[in-house]
Amino acid sequence: MPTNPPRAAALHALFGGTFDPIHYGHLRPVEALAAEVGLNQVTLLPNHVPPHRPQPEASAQQRLTMVELAIADNPLFAVDDRELQRSSPSYTVETLETLRKERGSTQPLAFIIGQDSLLSLHKWHRWQDLLSYCHLLVLARPGYGEQMETPALQRWLERHRVRDAAALSEQPQGYLYLAQTPLLEISATEIRERRHHGISCDDLLPRSVQRYIELQGLYR
Ligand code: ATP
Repeated sequence: MPTNPPRAAALHALFGGTFDPIHYGHLRPVEALAAEVGLNQVTLLPNHVPPHRPQPEASAQQRLTMVELAIADNPLFAVDDRELQRSSPSYTVETLETLRKERGSTQPLAFIIGQDSLLSLHKWHRWQDLLSYCHLLVLARPGYGEQMETPALQRWLERHRVRDAAALSEQPQGYLYLAQTPLLEISATEIRERRHHGISCDDLLPRSVQRYIELQGLYR
């Protein structure tokens, strides 16, 4: 009887963010991305915001609780709070380096970012090393153009870009995939602003998260 070759491990994706608060602009496009590229699980990775950057309004624990509430009934999502547990901030590339060591060299890994993050990726610490640890999956986001800032950055994008999602499971890292995800004009900034002005945020984020925001008196 012929034996089947060992199956490659399924593509696993991580999605970092400040999540101050988490909203449908995070959740819905990622759900669509999961269907588009075939992801069984997406791990949300709330960031530790370094002291020199504008601080989130919610505490690390509150941001984590909101993420947990938002994903409670959705088996697609898990949360990894390692960046929040650290006493000092870590760069995304360092977290990905650690995850790559934990998962081994052959596991296909991906990091999800929105189009706005892609356009400013060249400002991230060791940005060119990111693709040595994972693929990058980019969510469409309204209001952000398709063109990178310089021809050199555009060439970098085209060099790594794949249009066939199947490629993402065939290599452990190194590809960039621009997804055709739905455009949701929602930002955490808008939610905080609305709350500051007492405007309803219905339809922008899950009810459970809205209730928690109310109870904690956040974004007043
Ligand atoms: P803020 O308004 O506070 O800057 P945000 O809404 O952009 O926050 P973040 O937690 O900073 O949310 O975002 C985490 C990731 O999610 C980033 O890569 C960002 O590009 C992406 N993202 C956020 N909102 C959307 C959206 N509406 N559509 C697509 N991607 C998004």
